[in-house]
Amino acid sequence: MRISVIGCGYLGAVHAACMAKLGHEVVGIDVDEQKIKELSAARAPFFEPGLEELLGEVQDTGRLSFTSDMAAARGSAVHFICVGTPQKKGENGADLTYVDGALNALVPHLSDGDVVVGKSTVPVGTAARLAGIVEQSEPGAHLLWNPEFLREGHAVSDTLHPDRLVYGVIGGSEDHKAVQVLDEVYTVALKADTPRLVTDLATAELVKTAANSFLATKISFINAMAELCEAAGADVTMLADAIGLDDRIGRKFLNAGIGFGGGCLPKDIRAFMARAGELGADQALTFLREVDAINMRRRTRVVELTRELCGGSLMGQRVTVLGAAFKPESDDVRDSPALSIAAQLQLQGAVVTVTDPEALKNAARRFPELQYEESTDAAMQRADALLLLTEWREYRDLDPYETASLVTTARILDGRNVLDASKWRAAGWIYRGLGRP
Ligand code: NAD
Repeated sequence: MRISVIGCGYLGAVHAACMAKLGHEVVGIDVDEQKIKELSAARAPFFEPGLEELLGEVQDTGRLSFTSDMAAARGSAVHFICVGTPQKKGENGADLTYVDGALNALVPHLSDGDVVVGKSTVPVGTAARLAGIVEQSEPGAHLLWNPEFLREGHAVSDTLHPDRLVYGVIGGSEDHKAVQVLDEVYTVALKADTPRLVTDLATAELVKTAANSFLATKISFINAMAELCEAAGADVTMLADAIGLDDRIGRKFLNAGIGFGGGCLPKDIRAFMARAGELGADQALTFLREVDAINMRRRTRVVELTRELCGGSLMGQRVTVLGAAFKPESDDVRDSPALSIAAQLQLQGAVVTVTDPEALKNAARRFPELQYEESTDAAMQRADALLLLTEWREYRDLDPYETASLVTTARILDGRNVLDASKWRAAGWIYRGLGRP
């Protein structure tokens, strides 16, 4: 099929490459000329494992191209909308400027039978409004909402092998014409028995925000337990192991630490609360305010713990932050807890050096006032305290004895509870985890 993918960021670039891999003829469209230039040269404009190899592989087939010209969407049977929906400045709600801009630019190029597929995460009610715009400009075209569940760091395999497909259509019927068209796009996944749910537009939009809210709640739940464990002298990692063995609860997403961040969870739960308020259902989501507050409290707690670790004052203390990305295997620093903690420490007088295998360029753009060092060893040299804030494998695998020979004082705060505390203590380190004695 001929497919256009509008918006080639973390979601869209991967989606475009994967659709081409599945055999479709794909054009990726973005307003960012630099991104288009890089993607056209088969270079990934951001770090995502496997993406660059995939871009090279599919571009060699001639099935994938990129452009900034929206007219290139003309002739595609399916148009995926993958543009950003960030948090509005100074408000909790989602900024829909990019979604509206993309759709308005696309509609003059639609033809009879085309299907516009929304993948961006939007407040419930947006799809119905956009469906009206599509229908008005091209009555023979349809709009379908197909929320995306990929995880950065696993985006390629998540897109090629999704755990479920959700299609939202007007009326929520299997018989909707657009359903058959999208089934054709996802033939490979459907043949592999991927569950597919057809819903109305509002339910499909809500599935995405509900899923993210659940995940955020699970993380904040265990972080609240970490606060309690700290107060009671208990160990949250053992607690998580024990409750996680109950398969009604499950162990995944029960890792206490510095909390969640990134370009999705924080802004999605806030936009969800804002939208609930508009719908007169704000009470239903007031718990998310607490989820958000617990999450943000983790960052302050890490600053406090670092001060304790440094003997009561941060003034002039050389603190090395291991990790800048919001999670490992990504260079995404949007709302990264690691960087937010690094910036707070610096404001409070610490001399902070940040290192990360992939995210330093993005980090420096967002926090130019921080000092960055590419080499992990150089970053740790003469440190008074190390903070492991993004659990990249190379930090998890650090040898406590070798590391001790680099730093001035052997103190470490394990913000992700991923190190073997007894091993580090045995090597002479003062070790602090979160929610652990
Ligand atoms: P992003 O900021 O990385 O990418 C958005 C892209 O859209 C940018 O390249 C931007 O230049 C482009 N764009 C903006 N306006 C445009 C226009 N009018 N025409 C063409 N391109 C335009 O954002 P992202 O992380 O890829 O997220 C996109 C959407 O997908 C968001 O709604 C997000 O919540 C959702 N989502 C993201 C992920 C993820 O892991 N990143 C997962 C699931 C859902």
